Amino acid sequence: MSGQLFRLTFTKLRSFERCRKQYWFRYLSGREWPPDVPTPALIVGKGVHRAMKTLCETGRPEDGASELDTYLRMPIHECAGPGTDGHRDAFALFERGCEAHASIESEASWPELDTWVPWESRGLSIRARMDRADRLGPGQWQIVDWKTGRYELDEHIDTQLDISHLALRVSKRLAAQDNVTAIGWNLRTGERRERRLTRADARATMFRMHGLAERMQKTVEFEATPGPGCAFCEWRPQCAAAAAVPLAIDALEWDEFVEPASEVEDQPAEFDDGSAMS
Ligand code: SF4
Repeated sequence: MSGQLFRLTFTKLRSFERCRKQYWFRYLSGREWPPDVPTPALIVGKGVHRAMKTLCETGRPEDGASELDTYLRMPIHECAGPGTDGHRDAFALFERGCEAHASIESEASWPELDTWVPWESRGLSIRARMDRADRLGPGQWQIVDWKTGRYELDEHIDTQLDISHLALRVSKRLAAQDNVTAIGWNLRTGERRERRLTRADARATMFRMHGLAERMQKTVEFEATPGPGCAFCEWRPQCAAAAAVPLAIDALEWDEFVEPASEVEDQPAEFDDGSAMS
């Protein structure tokens, strides 16, 4: 595998769109990433995702609840520990997750597929993952991204689902005619945002990601864009531009997950279906 591929993740793309300075801090500055600052929304989101993964693995709600309980009792997660609103919120979300799980009728299930989708001839590798995949029947698949936040833009969900679709096509080696329903399923609101995706859509996603990667690589100016998102930016203490922006963590609980640097640096996996993308 070439070491020259430009690595693209949804989080990296969002950072580039949100604030070029943050993008520079994270991916170009070479500085050591600051540690995550736990917030109740972040811990609840991660804990519920862990519990939903366990539920998908064993099919038993008690296993998911145990995983969630243990996670929230960790000292580092005390902001959402027992007795807090975050703790109650997490278990309420997981209860809805159990109902969602029970409503899915499938032949086989896979929790948290996570892979890299290289496109060697274009110098690109895309990290693609999803929370859950199900084979519903012959040639019929479903993928789910669980959502736990109060605010998320539809266009961001759509892009995440399109990238998740790549992970399924690659890791399960879907036939060209196989169809995929991709769902952004919000456990807080019950909203299900669905996209019906084909092999042609996966190809279009690859070309779109390539165009975005080219733009990112050509960018030479990284201006700061201070705003409410600074409240969630791990680089805020090092960013002079953010000084005038009031913190708003309590007012806004965006469904924001920051990829640890160690995950961003994961090595791309082999891609068995790449020739058709060229
Ligand atoms: S603190 Fe705000 S302005 Fe500064 S890098 Fe982060 S998001 Fe950008």
